[in-house]
Amino acid sequence: MKWTCDNCNSTNVQVKMWVMVNEENEHNESVSDGESEDNWCNDCETHCKLNYK
Ligand SMILES: [Zn+2]
Repeated sequence: MKWTCDNCNSTNVQVKMWVMVNEENEHNESVSDGESEDNWCNDCETHCKLNYK
């Protein structure tokens, strides 16, 4: 199971994360509520919908 871009099916995608700046071991947590503007595809170089499959 991987997140993929809805446009090109690339797995080279990113999502906005919170980063705990005061923790030595950073805990990242997705802040996206599924809005495409929180997602980014490095291949399309655009905001995109992500599919998990
Ligand atoms: Zn893409």
